[in-house]
Amino acid sequence: MTDVVESLVIQGQGIGHGCAVAPVFRFTANNSAPRNSDAPPHDENPQTAIARTMDAIECVASDLNQHAHSSDGDLRNILLATVAIARDPALADDISQRITDGQSPTSAVEMSIEHFATMFSAAGGPLSQRVTDLYSVRDRVVSLLDGRAINRASELTIPSVICAEDLSPADTAALNVKLVRAIVTEQGGTTGHTAIIAAQRGIPCVVRAPGSASLADGTLVAVDAYTGSVIVHPTDEQVSALLSKAHNRHVATKSTAPGATQDGHAVALLANIGTSQDATDLSESAAQGVGLFRTEVLFFDSSHAPSRHEQLPHYRFVAEQLGERKVVIRTLDAGADKPLSFAHHDIEENPALGVRGYRLVRTMPELLEEQLAALGTLVQQLPTNQRDRIWVMAPMISTSAEATHFARLARAHGIERVGVMIEVPAAALRAHEIMRDIDFVSIGSNDLAQYTMAADRMHTGLSDLLDAWQPAVLDLIAATCEAGKRQAKPVGVCGESAADPLMALVLTGLGVSSLSMSPDALPLVRWILSRHTIAQCQDLAAAARNCADAESARNAVWSQLDQETRSFLM
Ligand code: PEP
Ligand code: MG
Repeated sequence: MTDVVESLVIQGQGIGHGCAVAPVFRFTANNSAPRNSDAPPHDENPQTAIARTMDAIECVASDLNQHAHSSDGDLRNILLATVAIARDPALADDISQRITDGQSPTSAVEMSIEHFATMFSAAGGPLSQRVTDLYSVRDRVVSLLDGRAINRASELTIPSVICAEDLSPADTAALNVKLVRAIVTEQGGTTGHTAIIAAQRGIPCVVRAPGSASLADGTLVAVDAYTGSVIVHPTDEQVSALLSKAHNRHVATKSTAPGATQDGHAVALLANIGTSQDATDLSESAAQGVGLFRTEVLFFDSSHAPSRHEQLPHYRFVAEQLGERKVVIRTLDAGADKPLSFAHHDIEENPALGVRGYRLVRTMPELLEEQLAALGTLVQQLPTNQRDRIWVMAPMISTSAEATHFARLARAHGIERVGVMIEVPAAALRAHEIMRDIDFVSIGSNDLAQYTMAADRMHTGLSDLLDAWQPAVLDLIAATCEAGKRQAKPVGVCGESAADPLMALVLTGLGVSSLSMSPDALPLVRWILSRHTIAQCQDLAAAARNCADAESARNAVWSQLDQETRSFLM
């Protein structure tokens, strides 16, 4: 009798729109938990033991550094931050002290990292996000001290679905991306490192998929990142249904037409970028321009404030790559989840509510001045008929006085199109005043949801609150669009919500005139818009706003879609 293996569906949260069918490659770090701290005393001379441990730490740091320099975008920046953690003198001192006090090198590394991990977790906010990096440094150093390979990455030899508890950026960097068909993790969140890196590389990804880390090597799985489902032991029918859905999505989303509803209401479809490489990738893309250039990403690993002369070539390069298309450049959004060492402040209790984004003008006005000088030069060096394709906006604006001040500074440098981001509820409520002296606004729905719902955007346990579908967030977007309509000033959205096809319909119905997202998400948003009229979008927006919570708002929109659209997205 042959064994019949039942298929089973694991439901997680998907990132991206891709599908994959491949065997599992179970990715485990060699040391996932600290061992007993009462390790027997060792007979190695403490000085020799310290030297051996420091060598292992440096070896790990320089390996990560090499990976960082052969990576780009967010992965590069995250890896550089991990290198900085490994080379932190406070960590070296703590480990050395523990060895001097009689602990073995392995135990000293484990206990010391645990000590820092507890501190980081207690600090909350961005520091708590670094705990995975600390553990990945620990695992690598301990493996080296024990004379073992750093991890299993080199054993990945056939196209596979990587299943793991969680993947640190260092783990991701070590993987041969050409062989990674999809990534599935038990932990992590849709805004975590794994998700960001997978989205950037176009790898289908499902996070928070319970039980996925225990799947055995070689188990066949079918992953649908759009629905967040992982079918374990799929039947032949399930595999062919998934592959044909993937094929249909691919065919239907091949259009490169400018974004518009079925009845021709234009909605510009733009891309979010952070590096020069991202801009190069757009040179052939159907994106109608850049809707958010996160300039702080350029300077994550810079130890000094970049001068106007250092900045200008970056901006010029991006403007050139985009040809005649529009580029919305955001001034440095430093602080909270995007720390820059040269824009560092004394420890703040609540960095997300502290001196971040535009507020840095209070303490370091020269930063904004240098950047506006560089951007003004860029504008002035363009042919006259192209100058208004460079739009410049400030992040984290809270009052109309801030918006007016920013507009005055930017215009003094010859920048023609000046705008601000609406990310703070106060700015949305007073959008009519905020818009008085500026030309456009762009809604940062990530931060707008965070501040409206008082839910830390880095906190994976609060994702139900931290949701742009929350009717309170939709109300603030509606208020902003209303003000934009009255003053005939464009209102865009550049937070993650713009990449959600259902939400794109709602935003369009609310009056948003451009949607900016990761380039990967553009085809599906273009497709769904082209299947709905503006009146339908308005009805969907009204239905969503009528609901009491995020889930019912999403369901209300879903239930009004036609069967063909639904089966395409399911
Ligand atoms: C946002 O807050 O929605 C946004 C686009 O800005 P960032 O994600 O860079 O804070
Ligand atoms: Mg923001």
